[in-house]
Formats: sequence, C-alpha cells, structure tokens
Amino acid sequence: MGLFNSISAWNANRLEKHRVSMEEKGLCPDCYGRGYSSFVPTEYHFSDIHDCPGCNGTGVYADWAAMNGQQM
Ligand SMILES: [Zn+2]
Repeated sequence: MGLFNSISAWNANRLEKHRVSMEEKGLCPDCYGRGYSSFVPTEYHFSDIHDCPGCNGTGVYADWAAMNGQQM
C-alpha cells in the first residue's frame, strides 16, 4: 500500500525541485523558457510547434505561475 504513495511523493518532490530551479531562473517549468511545447518534433510535426500552454508562449516563470495559480 505504501508503495504507490512513496512513488507519488517521489514524483511530486522531483517536479517541485524542477519548478523551484526554473523559478530561480525565471523560466517556465513546462517549456524550460523556450515558449513552445517540448513534444519531440518529428518530420510530420516539425512545422507544427505550438505555444507552450503553461505560459502562453512567453517562457516566463511569472506567466506560468499566473496561469497555474502559483502566484505569490
Ligand atoms: Zn512555457
């Protein structure tokens, strides 16, 4: 029973570390500040890059935080 809980705790902790390190750099944690989604581009989708939905394409942490209710 405790296994699932410890895995999700580990995963949440990992995501939180990523969020904090991106916050320090002022970059959107979803797209690493690039402003577009990080789905692997393929031959078919290479010209089909979308704005990052987390930050609305700005790549700025403050915009991501506002979009995700993390505003402080
Ligand atoms: Zn983003």
